[in-house]
Amino acid sequence: MKLRSFLSSILFLFLVACATSPTIPAVIETSMPSETPLLATTTPLIATETPILPTETPIPAPTAVPLERAQYTLFATLDYAAKTVGVEQSILYPNKSAETLNDLLLAVEPNFWASGFILHELTLDDVAANYTLEGQRMTIPLAVPLEPNQNIQIKMRYTLNLPFAEQGDPSVTRARIYGYTNRQANLTNWYPFVVPRQNGAWNLPEPWHFGEHLVYDAADYEVNFKTTDPSVVLAASANAELNAEWTRYTLKKGRAFVLSASPEFKVYTQQVGDITVYSYYYPFFEIPAQEVLNVTVRAIQLYSQIYGEYPHKSLTAVQGDFNDGMEYSAFYFQSHGFYNTYNGTAQNYLTFVSAHETAHQWFFESVANDQANEPWLDEMICTYSERLYYENYHPEAINWWWQARMFDYSPDTWLDQRVSENPSERAYWSSTYFHGAHFLEELRARIGDEAFFAFLKDYRTQYDQQIATGDDFFRILREHTNADFSDLTIKYFRTPR
Ligand SMILES: [Zn+2]
Repeated sequence: MKLRSFLSSILFLFLVACATSPTIPAVIETSMPSETPLLATTTPLIATETPILPTETPIPAPTAVPLERAQYTLFATLDYAAKTVGVEQSILYPNKSAETLNDLLLAVEPNFWASGFILHELTLDDVAANYTLEGQRMTIPLAVPLEPNQNIQIKMRYTLNLPFAEQGDPSVTRARIYGYTNRQANLTNWYPFVVPRQNGAWNLPEPWHFGEHLVYDAADYEVNFKTTDPSVVLAASANAELNAEWTRYTLKKGRAFVLSASPEFKVYTQQVGDITVYSYYYPFFEIPAQEVLNVTVRAIQLYSQIYGEYPHKSLTAVQGDFNDGMEYSAFYFQSHGFYNTYNGTAQNYLTFVSAHETAHQWFFESVANDQANEPWLDEMICTYSERLYYENYHPEAINWWWQARMFDYSPDTWLDQRVSENPSERAYWSSTYFHGAHFLEELRARIGDEAFFAFLKDYRTQYDQQIATGDDFFRILREHTNADFSDLTIKYFRTPR
C-alpha cells in the first residue's frame, strides 16, 4: 500500500474512533495542570537521618524455574536535599547464553564519580561475594559456574552520592544527565545492571564525549521508591501505584528504568487507549509542555500503526533542566532550550525532537542495538520517523523539515561508524542521523512503500526484546524485496552490504 493511502486510512480510523473535528488528525484532550502532582510520593515522611536504607524488605527468593529475562527489584530512598539515594537491590539473573559463565559483568555508571557509588553489601545466592570495580566495570567471579538456563541472585545494598550535572562536563559528557541540577535530580543508569552477553563476551563499551555507549538486555523491573521530602514530584518509566509506604513502579521487558524528581514539576496527562502519556514541565512552560504531550500522543498513534504495538503502558516526557534530549524506557527527556524557542507552530525543534524521542520506544526500547558500535540502527529510523510524523500530520512542512533538520548535513561520510569515530557531535549527527534519513528516503523510493513499511514492521517484530545488528537489518530487508539497492549501500556504507 502506498504510504499516503496507508496513512490516510490510519487517519480515517482515528477520525472515526475519536469523532473529532475533520481538520484535526487526533483528538487532544489535555488535562489542566494539576496542583496535586499525580506522581507525588505517598505518605509524607518526616525527614530523619539520611540516607535511609530500607531494611527487612521483601526481596524475591531465587527460583529454579528458568527465567526468560532478568528480574530487577529495587527499594530506593531519595534524600532530595542531601542528593543521596539509599538502595537495596536484587537481580535474579538467568544465563540465557549457551555457555557456562565463570563471572558476571555489571555496568555501574555512578562509579564514574568519586564517592558516587558506595557499596555496603554484595551477595550471590545469599553468600557474601567478591568483586572488582574499576570505572563502570564491576566484575563478580562465580565460585560455582553458572550453567545455561540456571539462575543466580545478586543482592546488593549501596548509597549513591549524586553528582552535580554540570553542563559540558568534559569527563563523561553523555552521562551528565545523571545527577542533579538546581531544579531536578535525574536517576539515569543509576543502578548496577548485568550487561549483555554477546558472541562469548560481555558487551560494555566505554563512553565517548557524545552519543550513548550502553547496551541493554530486556529485563523486568519492580522499583519501589520514596523520598524524604513529600513536596518532591516523581516522573518515572512506569505508572505509579502504592505499596505500603513506597511508590511502586512495574516495568516489564524494559531496557533502562529512569526517575526524575523535582519539587517544581507540574504535569499534563492524556490517555491513548491503555497508555498514559505524561508531560512534566516547569511553571510558565504550559504551552510547549502541551505541544510535547500532543506530539507524543500523535506519534504513539502513528508509530503503533507503522511499527506495531507500543511496548508499555505509559510514556513520560520530562522537561530537562539541561539542553539535551534523551530516550530511556517509557521515558524521555526533552531539551530545556526547545521549550524556550517553541513558536506555537509545528515547525520547530520541540515538535520533531518529541516525535524522534517517541520513536525510540520502538527502536532502542523494543528493538535494541549496540549504541556505541552501531548507533545508526536506532538513530536512523528515529530520525526518519520524524519525517513520517510530518508526512502524516503536517505534510506542508516536510520540505521545511528536511531543510531545518539537516541544515549542516554533510553527505561525505559513512553511516556505519562507531560513535567514537566522529570528530564532533555535529559530525556524529550528520553521519548517523541525517545520512541515515537520506538512506531510508532513497531506499523507500527504490523498493516502494509497501515493501518498505512491511520490512520496518517485520524488523521490529522479529527483534522485539532482542539486540539487533546491521546484518539483521539487511537480512530482513532482503526478505521483503528483490530490488537491487546495492548502489545505495555503496553510497552510504563504508562496508557495503
Ligand atoms: Zn535519538
